[in-house]
Amino acid sequence: MGEMIFLQPVFKETLWGGNKLRTMFGYQIPSDHTGEGWMVSAHPNGDDQITEGTYKGQTLSWLWKNHRELFGGLSGDVFPLLVKIIDAKDDLSIQVHPDNAYAAEHEHGALGKTECWYVLDCDPDSTIVVGHNAKSKEELKEMIDQKRWTELIRILPLHKGDFFQITPGTVHAIRKGSVILEIQQSSDITYRLYDYDRLQNGKPRELHLQKSIDVITCPCEENRPVIQTIQKEGYQESLMVQCPFYRVSRIKVSEKASFVQDKPFQIISVFAGEGTFDGRPVKMGDNFIIPYQYGSYTVSGALEFMVSSVN
Ligand code: ZN
Repeated sequence: MGEMIFLQPVFKETLWGGNKLRTMFGYQIPSDHTGEGWMVSAHPNGDDQITEGTYKGQTLSWLWKNHRELFGGLSGDVFPLLVKIIDAKDDLSIQVHPDNAYAAEHEHGALGKTECWYVLDCDPDSTIVVGHNAKSKEELKEMIDQKRWTELIRILPLHKGDFFQITPGTVHAIRKGSVILEIQQSSDITYRLYDYDRLQNGKPRELHLQKSIDVITCPCEENRPVIQTIQKEGYQESLMVQCPFYRVSRIKVSEKASFVQDKPFQIISVFAGEGTFDGRPVKMGDNFIIPYQYGSYTVSGALEFMVSSVN
């Protein structure tokens, strides 16, 4: 059976962050420039603390190290996933992540990063950068050398409920006016390609052009998943993505439904409505872990949530 694991998020102040983590979700955030909430994280740059139950006060990395049975005995030095909520009041820099092989060789054995985005909210006419228009590495280098940024980057319109899978080597940037749930490999390796020539403390931020050119896939992949929704007993399920690193599905319950926890662990990210999980009240913005062999659980209320697990 076991207990669900609730966590205190780590919040990150950023140049481009806003205050929607407070106004949309009611989190206690430190400033009006809080760009990221690390909602489920065991990463050393933001290791969440457990807020209730047997392991209250311990961190998620501690739990991973000392109670691997709660995660189905998975192997690996680090808890594999990281779930963030991102509030972009301003544009983020245009960036790319390496894959596991490149990161292992060039970043002291760190993991690469595959990530996915679910758009929780966005302003009208918002856009996002996913992909690029260079047909080959040569053309990519040429466009970067000649600073033909607007020609290079691929800008797409953005809508609430959109979903994107960002594989390593994909040029991407979250832009102003969007609030995004991000599920990713637990990695913090980012190569910055272009920062709109902005200054921080009077200086441009460091770019990583050579590493970016090394890892950018040319031509870019068209990897927008096709999402299918299935009606099940008491709920709707949409499989958003299944890749070597994670499986993410969106669930919509309107009154009551039962589920079975049949994965090494499940991360639940409630993004709309409120209700209960086995009687425990939850609401929009709550993220928690259902451990291995928890068994079945009952969800009551009108709520929507993501279920993230590893394969
Ligand atoms: Zn990224």
